[in-house]
Amino acid sequence: MAIAQRLDGKWAAGCVQADLKRRVEELTALGVVPKLVMLVVEEDEVSLGHVRRKARFARAAGIAAEIRTFSAGGGPEALRSAIDHLNGDDAVDAVLVQLPLPPGWDEVEIVGRIRPDKDVDGLHPENLGQAAFGRPRIWPCTARGVGELLRRYDLPVRGKAACVVGRSALVGWPIAQWFMAHGATVVQCHRQTPSVAHWTRQADIVVSAAGVPGLIRADDIRPGAVVVDVGLTYAADGPRGDVDPSVAERAAWLTPVPGGVGPMTIAMVAQNTVDLCAMRRGG
Ligand code: NAD
Repeated sequence: MAIAQRLDGKWAAGCVQADLKRRVEELTALGVVPKLVMLVVEEDEVSLGHVRRKARFARAAGIAAEIRTFSAGGGPEALRSAIDHLNGDDAVDAVLVQLPLPPGWDEVEIVGRIRPDKDVDGLHPENLGQAAFGRPRIWPCTARGVGELLRRYDLPVRGKAACVVGRSALVGWPIAQWFMAHGATVVQCHRQTPSVAHWTRQADIVVSAAGVPGLIRADDIRPGAVVVDVGLTYAADGPRGDVDPSVAERAAWLTPVPGGVGPMTIAMVAQNTVDLCAMRRGG
């Protein structure tokens, strides 16, 4: 029985970091140090962990990365004024608001407050709209990370059938848009899809971003498919993806969880920072 080859996000993210380091050195030689500022609610330990990993990765590539924390009890106003200040600070290239925000804080309004040319997550409606119209300024980090992972393994997308499970504005929708923009024929499944397996079975590439452990099983996959597991659920025994381990017996390529899409999302925050810096300040 053949076992799927591993799409190693840690390895691919290391390659991205080495390339970025060289690019940042070139920018620094021109007197430009890319700067990323991440805003996070301090009581949210999971979010804090995410931004710390993003900062560590970016710093290792030579980017100036800062974390600013806000208290959930203080309400969203301090976060709003921090965004306004960073929008006007010429030394800041990239602003990230770590989601989710506390209940009752309007995420769409708050993300929409970031200047689109500093929106490193690519989630500002203007940036999502530009991507949908085929003129992306920046792709959202998880979508770009999935694409970059496939590219690093020379796995083609153009002309392939891709099935994306999940349609959130943050994750599933941008991933589907990314595949469409790169020449795949895309089916997008979601909670109301009567038979997700009907669609995943026809796909050359399956990307699952539902957050439902074990959702995708071996029978749901065409033999030889590429399977990318975006899902991340913290179970008692550790992090779990959406894809059942049995899928490894049928797929040709499979991402591990952890160590697959997660490191690529982190790497793309740094990549997008450098790209936004170069777009805004030249170089
Ligand atoms: P979400 O809850 O906002 O959206 C989930 C989507 O999956 C929805 O569109 C829903 O319709 C769909 N869905 C849920 N159950 C389904 C089912 N049984 N069948 C078909 N579709 C179903 O979550 P999100 O923010 O989009 O995140 C999705 C997952 O991706 C989560 O596990 C999250 O932790 C993970 N994630 C991972 C990374 C990473 O870098 N690895 C980054 C972001 C999110």
